[in-house]
Amino acid sequence: MAEGRRALIIGGSLGGLFAAHMLRAIGWNVDVFERSAEDLAGRGAGLGTHEALLRMLRRISIDDGSALGVGTQHYILLNARGGIDCRLEYPRLMTAWARLYRPLKDALPAHCYHPAKSLVAFQQDARSVTASFADGSRASGDLLVAADGPRSTVRALVLPSVKAEYAGYVAWRGLTAEAEVASDRALLFASNAFCIPGGELAVSYPVPARDGDLREGRRDYNIVWYRPTDAAALADLNTDAAGRRHEQIAPPLIRPEVIAAVKADARALLAPSIADIFVRAERPIFQPIQDFATPQLDFGRVALLGDAAFVARPHVGAGVTKAALDAACLADALMAHEQVGDALEAYNRVRQRAGAWAVSRSREFGACISADVARAGLSADAEAVRSDRVFREYATLHHEVRDWAQA
Ligand SMILES: Cc1cc2nc3c(=O)[nH]c(=O)nc-3n(C[C@H](O)[C@H](O)[C@H](O)COP(=O)(O)OP(=O)(O)OC[C@H]3O[C@@H](n4cnc5c(N)ncnc54)[C@H](O)[C@@H]3O)c2cc1C
Repeated sequence: MAEGRRALIIGGSLGGLFAAHMLRAIGWNVDVFERSAEDLAGRGAGLGTHEALLRMLRRISIDDGSALGVGTQHYILLNARGGIDCRLEYPRLMTAWARLYRPLKDALPAHCYHPAKSLVAFQQDARSVTASFADGSRASGDLLVAADGPRSTVRALVLPSVKAEYAGYVAWRGLTAEAEVASDRALLFASNAFCIPGGELAVSYPVPARDGDLREGRRDYNIVWYRPTDAAALADLNTDAAGRRHEQIAPPLIRPEVIAAVKADARALLAPSIADIFVRAERPIFQPIQDFATPQLDFGRVALLGDAAFVARPHVGAGVTKAALDAACLADALMAHEQVGDALEAYNRVRQRAGAWAVSRSREFGACISADVARAGLSADAEAVRSDRVFREYATLHHEVRDWAQA
């Protein structure tokens, strides 16, 4: 009964694109409205995939069988001298944000995608929902999917009290070309490597090159380094050379002395091979870690999806997979129920629980990184025990995430 039905999808990033393909696959007409006037492929960095994500790509015929990313074989824990303290077999496929975005965007007919359209309001009644955009235009349909990300306008309209909370630490990210990786290159390009200095965590892995190239020698190496940063220190990071304070500073405005200081810390705290790669990164950037959970995803003809619904801390590594699973669940629910409202209630029952788990489990892991650090002056042995515990907890978390995504 999907014939003639129309979904308005707000947000044209990965969540919105997955929703568009999943709904088209069950016969719905879709229109994606994206605030940005430009293609998004130039932004984004490396991310891990899960079997469930590959399954979702196959479901919408995006997976053409070509390699999606760089395969790694194990997790290794590196100590500050560069030795391997622990090694666990754990095959992963690491990819890049743009490597997923490109085929999803290209496979959507151009007439379904509307750039430079920023939703400002919506109205709904028993028969339809109408979105209003900043340029004065309007569009009506049977369903509105809010895939407009962590600062969702739609969520702010239906759940104004739900706001992202700063977790007290930032993730520094550095991306370096494979050709610049001077030592341990073969090991590092076959591994997810971990450095765990007290209260901190650096996770690093190979990813496709910025242009998608997967050939040996042409790939990139991605480092994500979680560092405790209190509110005053974060304000300082967000202050540019002219003394102007930003809510989230643009990467080119990060002060050179801030970059120099974090690179000096890398030399002091991380394994030498990882520190060397981080120091060579052209322009490290930082992202304050935030999260939130919503109590409800369905509001009449409106569904929250992807990062508009939940943002878990990146430790679960599943933002994209969750968005894809949300989209698939929404399509299944619309197939199973004649009334949109009934379908969205069914969608809410399944995906609210899934999102809440990801948020709470990633908070637990965040607490695990900082546990024991208050006890200053740990012996070298106690330090090794502490970092080993965090490392194994991370591997356990990823097994749980894999099972959660398969469920
Ligand atoms: C450019 C970009 C790069 C990213 N890079 C990474 C990465 O490297 N690694 C990683 O793990 N995750 C990354 N993410 C997050 C990851 O994509 C998400 O966790 C996942 O795809 C689900 O996000 P989403 O599509 O629900 O929301 P988002 O990816 O946040 O997208 C929301 C979209 O909605 C648009 N939008 C916002 N408000 C409105 C409005 N009022 N009207 C219309 N459109 C609106 C935004 O412009 C944006 O394109 C990135 C997100 C973006 C946007």
